[in-house]
Amino acid sequence: MSGKRGVIMGVANNRSIAWGIAKAVRAQGAEVALTYQGDALKKRVEPLAAELGGVLAGHCDVADEASIDAVFENLEKMWGKIDFLVHAIGFSDKDELTGRYVDTSAENFAKTMQISVYSFTSVARRAEKLMTDGGSMLTLTYYGAEKVMPNYNVMGVAKAALEASVKYLAVDLGPKNIRVNAISAGPIKTLAASGIGDFRYILKWNEYNAPLRRTVTIEDVGDVGLYMLSDLARSVTGEVHHADSGYHVVGMKAVDAPDI
Ligand code: NAD
Repeated sequence: MSGKRGVIMGVANNRSIAWGIAKAVRAQGAEVALTYQGDALKKRVEPLAAELGGVLAGHCDVADEASIDAVFENLEKMWGKIDFLVHAIGFSDKDELTGRYVDTSAENFAKTMQISVYSFTSVARRAEKLMTDGGSMLTLTYYGAEKVMPNYNVMGVAKAALEASVKYLAVDLGPKNIRVNAISAGPIKTLAASGIGDFRYILKWNEYNAPLRRTVTIEDVGDVGLYMLSDLARSVTGEVHHADSGYHVVGMKAVDAPDI
């Protein structure tokens, strides 16, 4: 990754998946710029950027188009061009990440779609302009897009839309040698995940039933991210790559899985 520069959006703290990816690409020589959402997170993200010898690209609330513009103006001033973009952002009202999907409100449906789906398209459009030598864009999704997971509700519907947008973006941007992919990560205990009802149960279920009999770490996902962002994946675009200890291939409870 030496000589490559990119922006990583979605670091909240050192448990964030985006942080796992940032560490992995930095370890292979990439230069990274991190964004943060608001002053409270700036305090956490600033020392993390420093730890990587990276920089801050500024505050970015993806619900505010002006703040997205400001970040990409900063990147253009700083570097002129970028080689990669990581979008590890999702949000839904936690009161609706429990109970029945059918009870989702119109307001939260729209908000979840805006923050968790449209924002990737919105940042991709800006990043395209700076990827003058081609590039790689990556977002994060979850198996709840493909199969119904308890309490994941509107986030599952949003992730399905996000995975579809990965394919549309891959087709739009492919002729410029810009690749667009997603990692479908297994469950990890992060700030965002703590909003999902009964998350500990989902973690245990995955640990007992995934082919590898373990959950994944941000370092596991970080290494898959490194591959996707590097030239090793130069022929890969429009892909949703599972990094979930193989959980997505399982059809039934494992024979040796304890009851939980
Ligand atoms: P996290 O809480 O560490 O990261 C979520 C990030 O989203 C935070 O940095 C937060 O600031 C950002 N964000 C939320 N609303 C925003 C807004 N309006 N503007 C800008 N940023 C905003 O949690 P995480 O689990 O690392 O989540 C990263 C991504 O990974 C999300 O898309 C999540 O859905 C996805 N994912 C998580 C898991 C898991 O189990 N943790 C599994 C698969 C996919």
